[in-house]
Amino acid sequence: MFSFSLSEEQRQLKQTARDFAVAEIIPVARHYDEAEEFPHDLLRKAWEIGLMNLEVPAEYGGLGLGILDSILVMEDINYGCAGVGTSMAASDLATTPILLAGSDEQKSRYLSWLTNEFTFGAYGLTEPGSGSDAAGLSTTYKEVGDEYVLNGVKHFITNGTVASWHIIFATKSKEMGHAGISCFIVPTDTAGLSTSKMKGKLGQRCSDTAEIVLEDVVVPKSAMLGPEGSGFKLAMRTFDRTRPQIGASCIGMTQRALDECTRYARERKQFGQPIANFQAVQFMLADMAIELEAMRLLTYKAGWLLDQGQGSTIVSSYAKAFGADRAVQIASDAIQIFGCYGYFSDYPVEKLFRDAKLIQIYEGTSQIQRVVIARHLLSG
Ligand SMILES: Cc1cc2nc3c(=O)[nH]c(=O)nc-3n(C[C@H](O)[C@H](O)[C@H](O)COP(=O)(O)OP(=O)(O)OC[C@H]3O[C@@H](n4cnc5c(N)ncnc54)[C@H](O)[C@@H]3O)c2cc1C
Repeated sequence: MFSFSLSEEQRQLKQTARDFAVAEIIPVARHYDEAEEFPHDLLRKAWEIGLMNLEVPAEYGGLGLGILDSILVMEDINYGCAGVGTSMAASDLATTPILLAGSDEQKSRYLSWLTNEFTFGAYGLTEPGSGSDAAGLSTTYKEVGDEYVLNGVKHFITNGTVASWHIIFATKSKEMGHAGISCFIVPTDTAGLSTSKMKGKLGQRCSDTAEIVLEDVVVPKSAMLGPEGSGFKLAMRTFDRTRPQIGASCIGMTQRALDECTRYARERKQFGQPIANFQAVQFMLADMAIELEAMRLLTYKAGWLLDQGQGSTIVSSYAKAFGADRAVQIASDAIQIFGCYGYFSDYPVEKLFRDAKLIQIYEGTSQIQRVVIARHLLSG
């Protein structure tokens, strides 16, 4: 059975997200970007109308929607502003390990927290010395009686200063490699955990990026997520499910670039005619449309497979790598179509260009996606 149609519910969900993007996000996105300010009020509205925490099951107060549903929403939120999209997606990134490995008690406490109260989760894997080489992390945990004690520093953590709880990956011993890593849930108000905002980003400037310091943070045994030593695997399984959401961000930004460019090309006149009459411009628009369709198909397929329980690392990586690389090129072409106006912040395409660049870096760089894909191909 093969179908490319969305259900009536999915169309309505997508339309709600698009309406929100147009009416609420686009008018204020430039302000939050320039001020490098977290869009608290805006996200509160999104939370109130049910556009956040979509995959949280109904028993914990969520809608229990699928990954494809969540992709459809993220696509349109990112049409408005990718920084807003990242703020929402990062909380989903934090809930995913709980959905995958949490006990009933952990799910009830931490997932319900997000649906009962307007707040966020954060996902702390990256450290100053370990990015792509996530298994090389240095944050440690030690068993002391009935508790664990965590020490270390996490860097570049989205929602780090606004989250009520943190997913923290830590190692028992670096010599143990992957097998030494476990995953913990740590409420932000735990003694010894402190956060500070990392400022000065090129794009997605309204999203909150933070340093998390853990100094003798004591958590109960029940804070461990999944079996001891399964943390690295859990981190990677999480990315398999969240990378298609990043593909959705690429779709949203690219759709916005295409819409803005199509409108501008019809309006802008040179040599006595709209620049849309020039084949060189038409071909850039056509290439954008082709690649947008391709990224949509790859991302929807990745989401659909995950919803069928057939998701795979490789398909999720296709969606993220292709989407990120094409979104950056298309945002650059969008500036080309706008000419010098596109280079200025009075027009929306320079922000798209800055915002898109981040997608090639976080949740595994474009190079790492290729490492993952090649490894699968070559492993036979
Ligand atoms: C705004 C922002 C938000 C983020 N949010 C989060 C978050 O919420 N949680 C979190 O845990 N992390 C987060 N990150 C961190 C992000 O996931 C890392 O930046 C990313 O994994 C890359 O790590 P790195 O920056 O240390 O680059 P490095 O790993 O140092 O890589 C540098 C360069 O070397 C290349 N490279 C490295 N290894 C290889 C290899 N084996 N083969 C080929 N090329 C390679 C990379 O592709 C890259 O081009 C965020 C980052 C940013 C910028």
